[in-house]
Amino acid sequence: MAERSLATVDPEIAELIKAEERRQADTVKLIPSENYVSRAVLEATGTVLTNKYSEGYPGRRYYEGQQVIDQIETLAIERAKALFGVRHANVQPYSGSPANLAVYTAFANPGDTVMGMGLPFGGHLTHGWTVSVTGKWFNAVRYGVRRDTGRIDMDEVRELALQHRPKLIFAGGTAIPRTIDFGAFAEIAREVGAVLVADIAHIAGLVVGGAHPTPVGHADVISTTTHKTLRGPRGAMLLTDSDEYAAALNKAVFPGLQGGPHNHTTAAIAVALKEAATEEFKAYAHQVVANARALAEELLARGFDLVSGGTDNHLILIDLTSKGVAGKPAAQALDRAGLEANYNTVPFDPRKPFDPSGLRIGTPSVTSRGMREPEMRQIAAWMDEVITALAKGDPEETIARVHREVSELTAKFPTPGLDC
Ligand SMILES: *Cc1c(COP(=O)(O)O)cnc(C)c1O
Repeated sequence: MAERSLATVDPEIAELIKAEERRQADTVKLIPSENYVSRAVLEATGTVLTNKYSEGYPGRRYYEGQQVIDQIETLAIERAKALFGVRHANVQPYSGSPANLAVYTAFANPGDTVMGMGLPFGGHLTHGWTVSVTGKWFNAVRYGVRRDTGRIDMDEVRELALQHRPKLIFAGGTAIPRTIDFGAFAEIAREVGAVLVADIAHIAGLVVGGAHPTPVGHADVISTTTHKTLRGPRGAMLLTDSDEYAAALNKAVFPGLQGGPHNHTTAAIAVALKEAATEEFKAYAHQVVANARALAEELLARGFDLVSGGTDNHLILIDLTSKGVAGKPAAQALDRAGLEANYNTVPFDPRKPFDPSGLRIGTPSVTSRGMREPEMRQIAAWMDEVITALAKGDPEETIARVHREVSELTAKFPTPGLDC
């Protein structure tokens, strides 16, 4: 009996997936944590590997039938080690947040002091922010950026570390437009005896592509998602050079926090890591940064105020205060014009987190579609036109026109992994 397809079994979901494919193809996606994975990564994700339970690690499992899964996970581990240049890799964390929880589980106890960047300054929830369990179960100390430069205040990091003696220090975040000085963090961590965790979720693709300095050799542990600039499936990895830390991390991931690994994801991570080891990927990583620089330059020329005055990586944080509009209405108007961004707090934001002053954009997705500097200048012009019209209170005509022009552009740049 031939099996029935998704469209036959569940036309409602099938149609919605088609609609999302069209939406992703027709949009200029500027959300810096997103990307388009390749057809190969998509294919690996949608496989029978999802049927298999394999609690444990290759060669040491609690279920039989691991003849194939062990080979897949071993390939993913070996590729991660080779690509990042580390001695140990755990590819099982379900996503970035559980990966970070595994780090806490491995090296700290509830009530211990930990340190990370505050969420409003660009840190991640899991770096000890108040509403996260990491901020509730641990005594979290938070650092920020300097008011005058918009950059991480390393003097403050050192003073806080000396004062509070944290067990863990997180370096990395979700809205940091500048290069992170892992060496400087490592010196401070050594001075106070803390474990330094480089959370490179956003920049992992840039790191392996040679477009951002690596934390390897500085950080004790590296945590990363696999689905942002690295362009793999949704998942995460924990990397380290230390045998002792590797054993602690493995125990923390399983059985400390998780059950069976998502084997279909592991396979897709292996594929993404193979792709990331190519010259083509290096070129992509460098183009991501070149595109962000071109976009930032054009925005600056058009009077936009950028946190830290620009960007070194894939990400740009815009303070819209000078344009007379808030982040949320701006993001909504841009989305209606086919330009997908997200509203974000800016450092020292006087507005509320649900209605902040900033807009966060980035270039991984548009770069994966093959767009380059001329398209970045065009995108900056469209953003300026929509936001200026919004500030004047009558944006509808502009939104409609820009949307037509965006559609003409997206039609020329095929979306990886999609037919439409
Ligand atoms: C995205 C991100 C995470 C969390 O990843 P999820 O997969 O969304 O749980 C953790 N840390 C940083 C710095 C991130 O950017």
